[in-house]
Amino acid sequence: MKYVDEFRQLELAENLSNQITKVTTRSWKIMEVCGGQTHTILQYGLQDLLPETVELLHGPGCPVCVTPLELIDKAIAIAQQAGVILCSFGDMLRVPGSKTDLLEARAYGADVRIVYSPLDALAIASKNPEKQVVFFAVGFETTAPANAMSVYQAKRQGIKNFFLLCSQVTVPPVMASILQAPNNLVQAFIGPGHVCCVTGCREYEALSRHFRIPIVIAGFEPLDILEAIFQCVVQLENGKAHLQNRYSRAVTDSGNQPALRILSEVFDVSDRVWRGLGTIPKSGFKLSNAYKDFDAEKRFPVQYITAPESKICISGQILKGLKKPFECVAFGRQCTPEHPLGATMVSSEGTCANYYKFGIAQIT
Ligand code: SF4
Repeated sequence: MKYVDEFRQLELAENLSNQITKVTTRSWKIMEVCGGQTHTILQYGLQDLLPETVELLHGPGCPVCVTPLELIDKAIAIAQQAGVILCSFGDMLRVPGSKTDLLEARAYGADVRIVYSPLDALAIASKNPEKQVVFFAVGFETTAPANAMSVYQAKRQGIKNFFLLCSQVTVPPVMASILQAPNNLVQAFIGPGHVCCVTGCREYEALSRHFRIPIVIAGFEPLDILEAIFQCVVQLENGKAHLQNRYSRAVTDSGNQPALRILSEVFDVSDRVWRGLGTIPKSGFKLSNAYKDFDAEKRFPVQYITAPESKICISGQILKGLKKPFECVAFGRQCTPEHPLGATMVSSEGTCANYYKFGIAQIT
């Protein structure tokens, strides 16, 4: 298949592996930002193709993993109200809240529905005017335009029973936050290809320049990632720090203009809470004043809900690249994909879930 098979060729992977080994003279730590890239790295065992001195750290780019616990509790509380239909992508249903999850809430009678697009949720609202339909809008810049479009269309069509429960976050601020931390380990980034399809490269260029750090935007196939690692190592070894776009088959400098226009029409930039990472300034979106009537947190009385994080779970440190899943005492014991304690064990993009699935464990 075009754009798939050609980026999975073993011989080319071995060539890149050899080239990386050849140019590496020191220890380097490189973080892939996106959860999809983490999945590829662990599925194909890419770390094993690298010299021991090149370590991959897994970043905060899994949307399910960074959604605050209290927002999951709010989604459950809204779903449990009479006359509500709560719509969500499937992977959010199993994310544990403080006491239960959306799947269990559905088993006890809540009307929770899996949809493939926020526009499907809008169609449900249109067909059920007597119900209040809430879409659980979670994700990065990749999902934000479709969420924005659903609210834009709701307003245009005069649909007043449709709401967003919104946890939209943006990538560059969290990368800056990781780099600013005194205990930061990251020396180069593999940039998030899908996010950059929407946003373009310019913010990443500024980030690379400001922090003097190599950033190589990459796709999601094994050769994409090995090529990005090679480019990162070449820059690090030569004392360079600039942006490279190695995903030019999908990413342009200026991004997807219609998508960016709908984002600025519907959303304002706002501070956001990231699970395990705390509040990061200007790291996400909230509905703008013109669309505030579609805000589920204003429509439903859930502002009082707060949720303390598990004392055992170290997913915050994992998302910053400071720890690996097998350093968590619960990994593979109290915490498994069947019984997850934290969000990074739930999603297929979650680092803990991937370490468990692909048997990367040091369980004693
Ligand atoms: S193994 Fe479970 S408890 Fe430990 S960090 Fe991962 S999600 Fe949290």
